Amino acid sequence: MHDGDMTTALMEWYARARRDLPWRRTHDPYAIWVSETMLQQTRVDTAIPYFLRFMERFPHIRSLAHAHEDDVLALWAGLGYYARARALHRAAQYVSAQHQGVVPADYAQFAALPGVGAYTAGAVMSIAYGLPYAAIDANVLRVCARIHAIEDDITRTKTKQYIAQLQRALLPPHDAGTFNQAMMELGALICTARSPQCGACPVRSYCRAHAHGRTGDIPYKKAKKNPRSERRCAIVCIREDDGRILMRQRGASGLLSRMWELPHVSLEHEEEPMPWSIDGAINPQWQEHVGIARLTHGTALAMFVHRFTHRIWQMDVVVRHAVVHRDAPSPYAWVDEQQRASLAVAALFDRIVASVRADHRV
Ligand code: SF4
Repeated sequence: MHDGDMTTALMEWYARARRDLPWRRTHDPYAIWVSETMLQQTRVDTAIPYFLRFMERFPHIRSLAHAHEDDVLALWAGLGYYARARALHRAAQYVSAQHQGVVPADYAQFAALPGVGAYTAGAVMSIAYGLPYAAIDANVLRVCARIHAIEDDITRTKTKQYIAQLQRALLPPHDAGTFNQAMMELGALICTARSPQCGACPVRSYCRAHAHGRTGDIPYKKAKKNPRSERRCAIVCIREDDGRILMRQRGASGLLSRMWELPHVSLEHEEEPMPWSIDGAINPQWQEHVGIARLTHGTALAMFVHRFTHRIWQMDVVVRHAVVHRDAPSPYAWVDEQQRASLAVAALFDRIVASVRADHRV
């Protein structure tokens, strides 16, 4: 095999088969950076509408830098992994202040920004500026492990470093961005995790896993630990007078920080006394705290399940209608539909509220 031949075959295939994606129609480093940040842990189809909305609202770095964090999170709501959005926002503020609002065309400077890891740095530097850096995401790791029949665990740093070295050797010096995108596209469209379509693969004749019938067991990955399940109970209080729903904003650190949510408690590490129970009984102290004078009828909804990387929330939901005698104290607020659309509501709670509104026609 000659590496140059494989690179040529790959690039020719990419020129024919590449998907027309919004971030591929631009060379704007900021837009490419936004797209690469969104695409971490997110499917292309899901990311497209988020990317378009984000770029319309924050078309350049300075507009993002000047935005309020809550507005950035609101546009990110539903994409998950909100730390990405916060880091992007902080990085935009830094670039705006220290680099005159221009993404630095220097790998080390760019990689030093909040939230920019080796993958993002390689992708943005090569795609936007044509610099000769490899961009190694999960797709590239898989494709490369198969082409070279690498049997080591691809989640290990050593294996990743080895693959990075192999990728660097293949980079065409003047078109690293296209090469990187071609590798990723091959992994996304042809050399998929479960059913690689070797018959349609442009690099089939260079692929050792294919030659040795090993595509089913390469790449090798150590099994992940199962995420921990936790049973929780959320309460949906609906105001009798205007249909607004009681929500609250989470604290500044930890999981889903500063996102909006429905009040909920863990049923495993019970707070004493519990503010409400799974059968809808509400503790009078909590009721008084949030300014509810009286509760009328209530119902229980089906359980909602949400998976995070390391945990699963199984959320029982209780719905109660409430008569209110004073406004709710911070971080609580009574939220109508228009406000909910502009707040950064965590996806699970957005789903629950939408379901309650549909069921109760409120
Ligand atoms: S021949 Fe098959 S396993 Fe090898 S790179 Fe192509 S699709 Fe992947």
